[in-house]
Amino acid sequence: MLAQKDITSVSVVIPVFNEQESLPELLERTQSACAQLTQDYEIILIDDGSSDGSADLIQQAANQPDSHFVGILLNRNYGQHAAIMAGFEQSSGDLIITLDADLQNPPEEIPRLVETACNGFDVVGTVRRRRKDSIFRRLPSAIINGAVRRATGVQMNDYGCMLRAYRRHIIEAMLQCHERSTFIPILANSFARRTTEIDVDHAEREYGESKYGFMRLINLMFDLITCMTTTPLRLLSLVGSVIAGLGFLFAFLLLALRLLNGPQWAGDGVFTLFAVLFIFIGAQFVGMGLLGEYIGRMYTDVRARPRYFIQQIIRQNPLNTPNSQENN
Ligand code: UDP
Ligand code: MG
Repeated sequence: MLAQKDITSVSVVIPVFNEQESLPELLERTQSACAQLTQDYEIILIDDGSSDGSADLIQQAANQPDSHFVGILLNRNYGQHAAIMAGFEQSSGDLIITLDADLQNPPEEIPRLVETACNGFDVVGTVRRRRKDSIFRRLPSAIINGAVRRATGVQMNDYGCMLRAYRRHIIEAMLQCHERSTFIPILANSFARRTTEIDVDHAEREYGESKYGFMRLINLMFDLITCMTTTPLRLLSLVGSVIAGLGFLFAFLLLALRLLNGPQWAGDGVFTLFAVLFIFIGAQFVGMGLLGEYIGRMYTDVRARPRYFIQQIIRQNPLNTPNSQENN
């Protein structure tokens, strides 16, 4: 097993968007959960442009003397994942834990996450035990989870649950990614060596409503898929080739039947027109697919993700150390 640096400090990162009702309880419960840790800790609250009193509450908490709370106020609403990234940038712990502000993920699980991470895992995910969301919120998630598992090969059962722990080096790698639309749990997994999942409780949302409406959920789904793969673009050429191929077959069939049955049968050329049409449609798709291939490559380049990520370098006798210079 790879030797892992010990965890001496923990940062908890919480994005907050119009959660003033749940904030007081959240602050208190998170604080008391963290107080059980043997490590140092900080609790970073990012106000994602809330229009209610959330920002004031965060400011108050952070301004208290000896406060473990750190407040980050964004000027407008950038979305959950962007807010979390902002929190990552300001975090300094060896282990970073993300958490939702709506108390659906119980903060009491933080010590367990830390303990699991201490066993040498880079990423600790969670699976929601008896998930307490409506079927309309669960069904899209189930589809997404399945699709991602197939498309990315990253085996994780519950991507939607943000109660997760990441080691410092994973966070550093994620901060080197320059894309605007990210889906953090998946991005993190692509930089991790050892991941695991634990079961956690999931509570009902007590205050307010889910900040994800149907359209935002669809948007999130596209973020999530495009975050890992450009396969959908490639599908264009595949579909095109199939259509064009079928068009050719169809044309041959028509020609053969026309020769056998005479011009009357072929509707005086109308059928042939169809065959020609299919071939052209197919060719168009192939053309679009070709464009797609270029766009896919540009997209990967524009994101400017680090080409690779070195987790650790093991070298006993580095060149040019003071020691080896002395010997000269
Ligand atoms: N959130 C955010 N910015 C947004 C939407 C949501 O910071 O634009 C935060 C929100 O305050 C909560 C978390 O992201 O802490 C998850 O949001 P929500 O509970 O609405 O999502 P769901 O549980 O339905 O996935
Ligand atoms: Mg929620």
